[in-house]
Amino acid sequence: MSEQFDLTIIGGGITGLYAAFYAGMREMKTKVIEYQPDVGGKVSFFYPEKKIYDVGGFFGVTGEELVHRVEEQAESIEPELITGEKIESIEKLEDGSFILHSSGGNQHLSKTVIVASGMGTYDMKPLDITQRKKFDPFIHYTIQNISQYKGKKAVVVSDSRVGIDWALALEKTASEVHIINHTEDFKAVYDQDVEKLEASSVHIHRNAKITDLEGTASDLTGVTLENGNRLPAEHVLVYEGLKIEKSYYQEWGLDTEKGRIPVDMNMGTNIEGVFAAGDAAIYPHKTMLIASGFTEAMTAVNSAKMYVDPKAKSQVYSTVIYKHSK
Ligand SMILES: Cc1cc2nc3c(=O)[nH]c(=O)nc-3n(C[C@H](O)[C@H](O)[C@H](O)COP(=O)(O)OP(=O)(O)OC[C@H]3O[C@@H](n4cnc5c(N)ncnc54)[C@H](O)[C@@H]3O)c2cc1C
Repeated sequence: MSEQFDLTIIGGGITGLYAAFYAGMREMKTKVIEYQPDVGGKVSFFYPEKKIYDVGGFFGVTGEELVHRVEEQAESIEPELITGEKIESIEKLEDGSFILHSSGGNQHLSKTVIVASGMGTYDMKPLDITQRKKFDPFIHYTIQNISQYKGKKAVVVSDSRVGIDWALALEKTASEVHIINHTEDFKAVYDQDVEKLEASSVHIHRNAKITDLEGTASDLTGVTLENGNRLPAEHVLVYEGLKIEKSYYQEWGLDTEKGRIPVDMNMGTNIEGVFAAGDAAIYPHKTMLIASGFTEAMTAVNSAKMYVDPKAKSQVYSTVIYKHSK
């Protein structure tokens, strides 16, 4: 059994990371548990290259940059960060503390819990090619770390707007970009998305499918299409949809509304000591935005602090107590 933490945050998305930072301000021993191998949640998964305009003070920041900054902020208070682990249930003990059970059989002891796990976990549909394992380092399911494509030949496999966005983002960095669409049309797109793609230097292959990958043990050099054509490729980016596994919060003993967790003004759930923030939480007039998650995370942490120590202040100012400030 692991040592007991003051606070365990389920989900290392942008809300969970910010909650971890704020918990450090409240001097809580904090653990974050994230299912994916990397933190960042939806922002990293869906739109790392998109510019975000509605986070105060960061007008036009990219998703990747914002996650990086919040991650850095969280790391400054040195929380324990566990990735690649999924929480499957929460058990409340008689003394008011919790055991979180993970899919791998691990158990995490905590005095309080913040659920910052959005609507659940996501897995990308893998490229449907038998020898893809051999070329794993060159097959990507997100467009993070775009500088790795500088001067490289890239192939995007997608029939959706996400794939178009990726191809256009790569066009600025890669030396050659192809997009391969299994069908004739792109799905869930505006006409102007397709027009933009058609006006770009991206090579569009409709009704096409990759049947083979070519290369050596250390390099991918090309892909072969069903029609026999060969395209040069050093990287393949795949977006063929998601497998979403919703979190069944009711099985954790939590009340739910439209798949989310109803919270009170303190971000408290129906289980005392368990709080929710970000996309996981719901209340009247809730906005599903990054900035709302930040505020909710603060409130949830302050509430968790007072659950552990009822005499604690209801809030603190970073200028007064933040140890690392210069
Ligand atoms: C396409 C798109 C564009 C958007 N654009 C904007 C925008 O411009 N501005 C804006 O403010 N907002 C935008 N949003 C909304 C914003 O992305 C979300 O509000 C925000 O990402 C919510 O963050 P979160 O951390 O609460 O949840 P998530 O980002 O969903 O993170 C939850 C994390 O929890 C993990 N997790 C889930 N279940 C478990 C489990 N059982 N155990 C362990 N880990 C688990 C997941 O893997 C994930 O990493 C956009 C959303 C989308 C989809």
